[in-house]
Amino acid sequence: MNHEMSTGWGLIGASTIARQHMVDAIRAQSGHYVQAVMSSKQERADTFASECGIPAAYESVDALLADPKVQVVYISTTNELHFEQVIAVAAAGKHVLCEKPLALRQEDAIAMVQACRKAGVVMATNHHLRNAATHRKMRELIQQGAIGKPLFARVFHAVFLPPHLQGWRLDKPQAGGGVILDITVHDIDTLRFTLNSELVEVVGMSQSASMAKEGLEDGVMAVMRFDNGVVAQIHDAFTVKHAGTGIEYHGESGSLIGRNVMTQQPIGEVLLRNADGEHVVPVAHESLYARGVAAFCDAVKGRGEPAATAEDGVKSLVGALAVVNACKTGARQAITYQTI
Ligand code: NDP
Repeated sequence: MNHEMSTGWGLIGASTIARQHMVDAIRAQSGHYVQAVMSSKQERADTFASECGIPAAYESVDALLADPKVQVVYISTTNELHFEQVIAVAAAGKHVLCEKPLALRQEDAIAMVQACRKAGVVMATNHHLRNAATHRKMRELIQQGAIGKPLFARVFHAVFLPPHLQGWRLDKPQAGGGVILDITVHDIDTLRFTLNSELVEVVGMSQSASMAKEGLEDGVMAVMRFDNGVVAQIHDAFTVKHAGTGIEYHGESGSLIGRNVMTQQPIGEVLLRNADGEHVVPVAHESLYARGVAAFCDAVKGRGEPAATAEDGVKSLVGALAVVNACKTGARQAITYQTI
């Protein structure tokens, strides 16, 4: 590729998600390439760069941002670092796609959005499930009235955290560990997207069964109400090997069943069940991450919005933080969004 004519990305974080999904998702965009990677350890940055064929490797955010070939940044460090790193990227006048959860506090996430607005750069949140053909199809069908008035949703997202990820998520509260900020935040974003509705209130109960330490949770069940009246239940865990994943929407005249759809892979199926019986709804699977990056690249060029905007990232974080508080206090949490 002629790099003079194309957009260079800088990766902040030599992470698993960058290695397994995002480098390929960026490279799938015509006119985009990965110019640099940054790690807190130069050696890890060098290894990541050489294994992934990335030209430059840096040990600090400042060094990466000083690279004139880096025009767009993707952040996938541990969760407590996203705040200061997005602020730095905005100050350098570069566009930023940030991992979820955006931050550990609503105020910080809002400050990130405001810094990007002030700098005139695009900020987006990497909530991948919005890009799944299955979830998009369920959203479309609900909007078309395929299940009548939606009444309930059920989310099945209890999985087993693979050994190579059994690190900070389980024992570093200060890094934003725990299943709620890791998985529940995605569920809430998916429900907000599919129902086209905002959270009103939540209750929840968490579990620290076997993996999580330091007061963190490795399982949760929560119930939440949306402003269209839908009541949703979620079940998330790091500790469950054989449950399978799914999502269901039950309305007055029909039900949508998404099987094997709470996943990073372009897989799963959607069933519509109503008075006519049960049928599989065809979906055209595509990479969730490549589609998300494509929407972000379009937004950078002034064409449309990212799949999950910065504001979506804030609202989904606020919902997840409310689940954390509901579990801690045992009390119902009303959702209050501060002005962004
Ligand atoms: P990792 O644990 O793989 O990486 C997080 C950080 O840990 C890296 O930035 C790196 O720091 C450090 N690290 C990685 N490998 C090692 C190692 N072998 N030894 C020491 N340190 C290491 O996390 P994930 O990739 O799972 O998650 C990163 C972010 O992405 C999180 O915010 C998470 O919530 C989000 N995420 C989002 C997903 C999505 O689908 N949207 C899916 C998975 C994660 P350094 O950069 O300093 O080297």
